[in-house]
Amino acid sequence: MKKLIVVTGASSGIGREIAKKFSNNGHPVLLLARRLEKMEELNLPNSLCKSVDVTNLEMVREAIKEAEQKFGKVDCLINCAGMMLLGHPQEQNFDEWNDMIDLNIKGILTGTNIVLKDMVQRNEGTIINISSIAGRKTFDNHAVYCGTKFAVHAITENIRKEVSQSNVRMITISPGVVETPLLSHTTDENIKSDYNEWKKSIEAGLEPEKIASCIEFAYNQPQDICIREIVIAKTKQA
Ligand code: NDP
Repeated sequence: MKKLIVVTGASSGIGREIAKKFSNNGHPVLLLARRLEKMEELNLPNSLCKSVDVTNLEMVREAIKEAEQKFGKVDCLINCAGMMLLGHPQEQNFDEWNDMIDLNIKGILTGTNIVLKDMVQRNEGTIINISSIAGRKTFDNHAVYCGTKFAVHAITENIRKEVSQSNVRMITISPGVVETPLLSHTTDENIKSDYNEWKKSIEAGLEPEKIASCIEFAYNQPQDICIREIVIAKTKQA
């Protein structure tokens, strides 16, 4: 059997496509998100679906332990769970900042904390973090979202250097706009409609399957080759 892949945010959007892609390629997959039914409806073979809040270290630890007992050691952790709550910096509710910081930053650290030591000891393994083009440059109304995604870049690259001698790969994926429910959680209706207006300039976002294909490409390189970052967006996205 191929090696175990863990995907967070597997109930929707990009994470869902990643889980499907790796499963179609014969990997056992641990799917993590809060909505169990959305993961179970995929009905993937050799999979385990667990309802967890990825900011909760012990919940993630228990889920990974159960998956490893069934399928062997985690070979790849793909941290995809995230949220984007856009807002004017002088008006946005503090809870929205707090939630984004918690999920987008702490949510990539829980799984990493659990699997990294073992990967280093085994001299193999890959951690792939989904950042964003908003982790490379700033946009209006994106202050804290950008802050969290800049942090994803920094954390991934910092760890990459430190574990490179152990042959463990750390990869950042930086998509532009992708067609998923991500924007729907923003509470400011004016910002949402401005965003949708701007989006007309690129006609539509990327299909989430395209991001899954990039991740598959990076993962399928030999272990001694690390594609450190992939930036992918619609050609018309400036
Ligand atoms: P979706 O809203 O479709 O997916 C978000 C996923 O995160 C869901 O599966 C959701 O599952 C999960 N999630 C949210 N909160 C938690 C939590 N506390 N614990 C566990 N899982 C959680 O958005 P996308 O697929 O678009 O987003 C995936 C990633 O891609 C995010 O990190 C996003 O920032 C990034 N990205 C997206 C872009 C886009 O344009 N769509 C562009 C660039 C980057 P559930 O609600 O069931 O818990």
